[in-house]
Amino acid sequence: MQVHKHDAIIIGAGGAGLMAALYASKGGADVAVVSKLYPTRSHTGTAQGGIGAALGNLDEDKPIYHTYDTVKGGDYLTDQHAAKILAENAVDAVIELEHMGLPFDRTSEKRISQRRFGGHTRNFGEQLVRRACHAADRTGHMILQTLYQQCIKNEVSFFDEFQVVDMIVVDGVCAGVVAIELGTGEFHIFHGKASFFATGGWGRCWSVTSNAHSLTGDGAAIALRRGLPLEDMEFFQFHPTGIYRMGILITEGVRGEGGVLINSQGERFMERYAPNAKDLASRDVVSRAIYLETRAGRSIKNRGYVHLDVRPGTVNRYFAEEGRDRGDFIDDATVERKLPDILDFCRTYLGVDPVKEPMPVQPTAHYAMGGIPTNVDAEVIIDAAGNVMPGAYAAGETACVSVHGANRLGTNSLVDLVVFGRRGGMKVAEFVKGADWVPLPSDAGAEIRAEFDRIRGGSGSSRPGELRAKMQATMMDNIGVFRTEETLQQGISDLAELRERFHKDLQIDDKSRVFNTDLMEAWELGCLLDLADVTARAAFERKESRGAHSREDFKRRDDENWLAHSLVSHDGNLASPSYAVNFDKKVDLSLWEEEIRQGLPEDQQKFRPKERVY
Ligand SMILES: Cc1cc2nc3c(=O)[nH]c(=O)nc-3n(C[C@H](O)[C@H](O)[C@H](O)COP(=O)(O)OP(=O)(O)OC[C@H]3O[C@@H](n4cnc5c(N)ncnc54)[C@H](O)[C@@H]3O)c2cc1C
Repeated sequence: MQVHKHDAIIIGAGGAGLMAALYASKGGADVAVVSKLYPTRSHTGTAQGGIGAALGNLDEDKPIYHTYDTVKGGDYLTDQHAAKILAENAVDAVIELEHMGLPFDRTSEKRISQRRFGGHTRNFGEQLVRRACHAADRTGHMILQTLYQQCIKNEVSFFDEFQVVDMIVVDGVCAGVVAIELGTGEFHIFHGKASFFATGGWGRCWSVTSNAHSLTGDGAAIALRRGLPLEDMEFFQFHPTGIYRMGILITEGVRGEGGVLINSQGERFMERYAPNAKDLASRDVVSRAIYLETRAGRSIKNRGYVHLDVRPGTVNRYFAEEGRDRGDFIDDATVERKLPDILDFCRTYLGVDPVKEPMPVQPTAHYAMGGIPTNVDAEVIIDAAGNVMPGAYAAGETACVSVHGANRLGTNSLVDLVVFGRRGGMKVAEFVKGADWVPLPSDAGAEIRAEFDRIRGGSGSSRPGELRAKMQATMMDNIGVFRTEETLQQGISDLAELRERFHKDLQIDDKSRVFNTDLMEAWELGCLLDLADVTARAAFERKESRGAHSREDFKRRDDENWLAHSLVSHDGNLASPSYAVNFDKKVDLSLWEEEIRQGLPEDQQKFRPKERVY
């Protein structure tokens, strides 16, 4: 096996990986980025909405308000100290991106333009504020391009289309990773003082998702298999309006322009669930409503979707009912002008023209709040006490700092990438200066090679495609927007059966070595199965509703018993692991504690967890 030696190995070339690589190299480390995709194809490139930072260019804004929104949005499971760092560092991170050349949109005074987004407020919820900085609707794309150019300038080495499949842990220290070069099928060892996981999310566990095909949670699954716990896995955000079956995101802007959700009876059902905000209620509320309509047999053609109707005739009829000014009424040209990308998606992928027909939509799995636990310097932690695994780092969607708590606020993921990618990169540069090389074990890579031989050589009757479809269906039905003890048990037993077939009865069709996507997708399915399983287990144990985790049998948030992070781990037995879930990791409530120290009366304590009724 070829061995590559670099101070720091960064796994993943999305926003988090590139920021970490840039800062580790600026700090003097010899850095290699290993990525299964060509860097600029990473999912970060699809982010449209923007990146939140309290620049205050258009409205009065302060990092403390951003901190508050982040904590409240996370339903108080957010670690408050981490949220404060996120909000404070966001300001100079965005200005730094601008100085690197990122072409943000401008205000008339030539400052970075900002726009409104759900949950962004000033003065602790008083009023909406413009905080999301954007480059047209291509903010993520611009971040990726900018950071990639900077990494090239800083002489970071790139190993594109190398897929990491295992980590090498020697006596509790991470000594590198094992990867497969996709173009040849050869195994390579990357020996590093620091290994940094920035491999993104795992929306592909569900059948309907906004996530790219590549988002199979490889990094988190590898960490889990090597004995690391995963944090807060029960929290996965569903966005209410994905294109039916494809999951491609349809922006909230459609409803912002007057679009309404309609069930099979022709009823605007959100009037029943959220009489004030109606179709513009928060993402989790709308997602739950669509699911309830489906369960009640009122989805269109009983197929689990509803209509999102933005036809001027429909919109204007509701506007008239609400007594809206005639000046607000829309026509075909308004829809064309304001929603060009959405029209384009629907016409291209669905053959549906939203000006003439309603769009079929359903909730789509969108974002992982949980992941590999880290501290605020991206060091991977191994237990509730916060002890770290030397040499292991993580940031971005695969990590859990935790700044998103139980539910991520819009535009906060991009902030998370640049803020904690940067902090992690700096920490890595410092670490590699002092750390000794850990010698590689003589059998490094042998175990994972054997696992690939097993997958390639399997002669069973189960094809990965069938198992994947079954996993995605059970995740959607049983561990989706709503959960109950019954659905979770069903999900857990379905997953156990699929796992059994994956490990004992698998067969793939392509046995070759070069660009064997059949083989790699089979291995990725194993990662998804592991993550689906831990999601189900953690969701089963958390007997309350909080943020994106909605239990019909425990409808209230219960701070007395459940204001804690979950840590789930498995015993390393791939075929039939046993799991342990604990809730020993405390939520960092430092800002609230500070308010108490200052002697603020209860009604003035902004960061005190406030009960929310579901
Ligand atoms: C459609 C969509 C729109 C979004 N819009 C917004 C928005 O407007 N604002 C916002 O804040 N957030 C948004 N998000 C969320 C946000 O974009 C993501 O959470 C974020 O970009 C993840 O970045 P990352 O660096 O963690 O990983 P990614 O950008 O997903 O990159 C993962 C990297 O890891 C590599 N990788 C994965 N597995 C392996 C492996 N085994 N070996 C080697 N390399 C590997 C991949 O090649 C890739 O380079 C959106 C998400 C989606 C899906």
